[in-house]
Formats: sequence, C-alpha cells, structure tokens
Amino acid sequence: MKRITAKGLRAKAALALALVMLGTGLNFYAPVAVATDEKQQQLENEKAQAQEKLDEINAQIEANKNNIANAQAQQSALKTQSNLIAQQINILVDQIADTQAQISEKQDQVEQKQAEIDARWEDFKDRMAAMQEINDRGGIAILSQATNLYELLTFNQTLQDISEKDNEILAEMDAARKALEEEKAALEEQQARLEEQQAQLDSKKGELAQNIQQLDKDISAEEAEKEANEQAAAVARQKLNEAAEALDAYIRSQNDGYDDVIFNTSMGFISPLPSYKYVSCNYGDDGHKGVDWAALGGTPIYAAADGVVTISTYHYSYGNYVQVYHGADTDGNTFATLYAHMQSTPVVAVGQQVKQGQLLGYVGSTGNSTGNHLHLELRVNGNRTNPMNYIPKPSVVKYS
Ligand SMILES: [Zn+2]
Repeated sequence: MKRITAKGLRAKAALALALVMLGTGLNFYAPVAVATDEKQQQLENEKAQAQEKLDEINAQIEANKNNIANAQAQQSALKTQSNLIAQQINILVDQIADTQAQISEKQDQVEQKQAEIDARWEDFKDRMAAMQEINDRGGIAILSQATNLYELLTFNQTLQDISEKDNEILAEMDAARKALEEEKAALEEQQARLEEQQAQLDSKKGELAQNIQQLDKDISAEEAEKEANEQAAAVARQKLNEAAEALDAYIRSQNDGYDDVIFNTSMGFISPLPSYKYVSCNYGDDGHKGVDWAALGGTPIYAAADGVVTISTYHYSYGNYVQVYHGADTDGNTFATLYAHMQSTPVVAVGQQVKQGQLLGYVGSTGNSTGNHLHLELRVNGNRTNPMNYIPKPSVVKYS
C-alpha cells in the first residue's frame, strides 16, 4: 500500500527538526504554518502574474490578427476596384485608338477632296483662260471658230453656263470638304474627351495603387508586431510554466520524502475523537486556522485517515502535536491533518505509518491552550482548510 525509504524518513526527520528549531525562536501563533503559507502565497501570486502577462500578450496577438485581417480585406476590395478601373482604361485605350484611326481616315478624305477641288479649279482656270483668249480676238475670231450660226448666237450664253456649272460644282466640293473637316474636328473633340477620362482613371488607379502599397506596409508592420508578440508569448508561457512548476515543487516539498507514498484514502475521513463536549472555536473565528473541539482530558486522538506521521513533537504554541500526511486522492489533491495540545508526548514517531483510527496521543492542554481540547487542522494541497468540510464531528460526550 505504501513504501517509505529510509532516506525519505531521515530527510523528513531532519526537516521536521529544522522547522521546530525555526519555530522556537518566533513568538507568533503556529509559525511553521504561517511561514509556509506566505511562501506558497508568494508562489501563487507569481504564477497568477505570469498568467496575467501571458493573457495580455495573447490579447495583443488577437488584436494583431484582427488588424491584419481587416487590412487584407480592405486591400482586397481596393484591388478589385483597381482591376475594374484597369478594364475601363483598356476600353478607353481601344476607343481612343479607334477614334484616331477615324480621324486619320477623315484627314485622308479631306486631302482627297481638296485635291479634287484643286484639280477642278485648275481645269476651270484653263478653260476660262481659253475662253478669254477667244473673246479677246473679237467677233471675227468667234466667227471663224463657230461652225454654225446657232453656235455663234449662243456662244456667250454657253460661256456663262459653263462658268455657272463650274462654280456650282466647286461650291459643292468645298461644302463636302468643310463637312469632312467638321467631322474630323468632332472626332478630335471625342478623342480629347476620351483622353481626359483616361487621365482621370489613371490618376484614380495611381491613388488606389498608393493605398494598396500603404496597406502592404501596414500589414507588414502588424505582422512584425504579431511575430514579436508571439516571441514574447513564448517567453511568458515559459515563465508561467516555471512559476507553476515552482508552486507544484513547493507543495510537493512540504511532504518531502513522502512523494512515493500511496494511500488508499478516498478521503473517507473519520472523526479523530470518540467523543467531545462542544466546539470551543470554529475555523475562521478571529483568523483561527483549525477547529477546536473541547473534550475530556485523556480522550484518545485517532488518525482521521491512513497516512504517515510527518511531525511528532512539542511546540510552544501547538504543544505536543502530530501531523499526518495522507497522500493524494484520485484527483491529485493532497491532504494532511494536524492534532495539537496533546496531554503528553505523542505515541507515534515521524515516518511511522498509521492506519485510520490508530491512536496518536491524548487530549490535553499543552502549548498555547487554556483548557482540554483538540485543535485540529486540515491541509488540502498545502492550504489550511476548514476540517469540518471533510471530517465528521465526534459524538457528544455524556458526562455526569
Ligand atoms: Zn485551536
């Protein structure tokens, strides 16, 4: 059921002696217990602080992650917008190229029309010059040229008709050229409008590119911060582990030498007294860390559960007292009981295994006590706890 090494026993005996010697020089109540509680409290505080630090850093990492996700979502929206604008710009570039081709075509047409006008004009001038020459030679010349009378009579009219016809054609051609030039001007205006639109879109796209770049920088900065926080978290986690380890080690050290003790304590405690008179002081009254059961002097005190004796000595305040370590329950919680103010030297020694119900000593009033009573303490995981939560009351004694 349990096995205790000789080495463990010697170590425990030495520790108990050291604690007693430490206690004798001090004048407060239960110095050993107070000192250990302070140490444990300090370790618990350190662990809590390490946990708090780690929680803080983890919260920062969460914030970093949120910021990165937000920036990425924003950036993705901007990229979508930028792509749409790029598509619009492509369409405009096509339209501009198309317009330029149309302008070029119009220009060709204008030039062609001008060439026609010029040719027609040259032709007209040549004929007019010829007519002039005929006219200048006078009626004889006309006469000699004319092949018949009719021709002679209608010559002037013909000359006039030709001139009018030429004028009409030239005017039509000129109008056509002007129309072409106007069309060309309209196309040039259209091109200018398209180019302006493109410039606006280019500018908008540039702006978006800058915003996207800025978000890249923001994301990089946030990621660097997150990485630093993750490193800090690793350090904080390490510190928390160390603090937890230190606390565990301390709690274990309080039962040093008995780590390999395995008790079948489902913590079915029994009352350590067969009978008592009344509770003379409850746990928690004026900082009282145990329960006082007033009982007849000489009433036997029994082990509340199986265990091993870790202290059996005299103390100025506890008087003759015994501490029994009961090991851990199935949940890993450790238990120890302490029985103080015994009438005489306890009947058990340090390192001795005791069974539940085994005699430890007798009710008395040694140490800081004003009457026969058992001062009973219970430690759970090294912390003093109200024994009444775990240990049944004795039966009330009937006395004459
Ligand atoms: Zn007490």
